[in-house]
Amino acid sequence: MMNINKLQNLLQKRGEIAFRRLISQQHRGIRIHFTRELTRSEMHQELKKRLENSRRDFSRLQNQGVLISPYLEIGAEYGLRSSLIESKFKVRGIALDIAQSSLEQVRWFANQFKLNRIPLRVCSDAHSLPFPDDSFAFIFCYQTLHHFPNPLPVVQEIFRVLKPNGYFFFAEEPISQKFNLNLFRRPTKTTGLLKFLKIFPLLPFISKIGKTETDFGIFEGTISLKVWRQITQLFNPVAIQIEVFPFGYLTSTLTFKEWSWQQIILDMFGGGIQALLQKEADTNEGKFKKNHTIKFTCPDCHIVLTPKIQLQCNKCGRVFGKTHGILKLLPLDLHTSLYAKST
Ligand SMILES: [Zn+2]
Repeated sequence: MMNINKLQNLLQKRGEIAFRRLISQQHRGIRIHFTRELTRSEMHQELKKRLENSRRDFSRLQNQGVLISPYLEIGAEYGLRSSLIESKFKVRGIALDIAQSSLEQVRWFANQFKLNRIPLRVCSDAHSLPFPDDSFAFIFCYQTLHHFPNPLPVVQEIFRVLKPNGYFFFAEEPISQKFNLNLFRRPTKTTGLLKFLKIFPLLPFISKIGKTETDFGIFEGTISLKVWRQITQLFNPVAIQIEVFPFGYLTSTLTFKEWSWQQIILDMFGGGIQALLQKEADTNEGKFKKNHTIKFTCPDCHIVLTPKIQLQCNKCGRVFGKTHGILKLLPLDLHTSLYAKST
């Protein structure tokens, strides 16, 4: 059904894990690994900004009548948005990421922003979410889908675990920019000549961001409007916003009809997209109970795990325990390839 070559491959996953382990030390101020990436205080400012944006997003969604519990955050990294939703919106859910080292920092970063509740943390692969069908009322991600060479299979997984009538919200994702010479990748912070080119502003037309990440093998993609259209068409689109980078949010759309001038400036400057999508259901079922208990499935056998002392699969016999408070639910071969040295 899907093109297997387009899935996020092992090297890209290993890159995510290796890079996040180092950058998390830098973001906590333990050790500087990359002089061209954000320091502890710069990252603090960045995270503060992200939290403010998410707080606005979640409030707006609630005002629109979107039930945000139980929720699942994909690509949660330090889980701050999940900690925000737990602490300030009083709802329960799961922060999921493939990098265990990022999830290990969730409590520390939550403390920095005085968020008293942290989410349940699950280390897993977005290509095979370890949950039964129809598990979550609300699934969200920020700056995550573009880390997959083809985000469509991931979004199909999201659709599967979303409850009927539930909502998927994504934001801060890139739309391809056609007018980019793509001569080189630049790091987060620019110096010297690059800084000059940024002021000038030539840099966004000759280079792409994400040098440090791609050096580690991480996939940093931009996604065409065509693919975004395919993604949104899996659902009932409630709101789609397109941002052209120098101008901010310019237009809302549900149709992706052929624009004229919008398309031209999008091609020139690149842009961002955010969307609220609903999993359409035939009936009114899915008016879910608020205190719904999330069940987990075996990443290999896809059957519901039995909660004994630890979670156990009755088919393959694997037992899933928590390490540093994090539940790791990866297919056995992936678990071995990515985390052979740890548990
Ligand atoms: Zn199993």
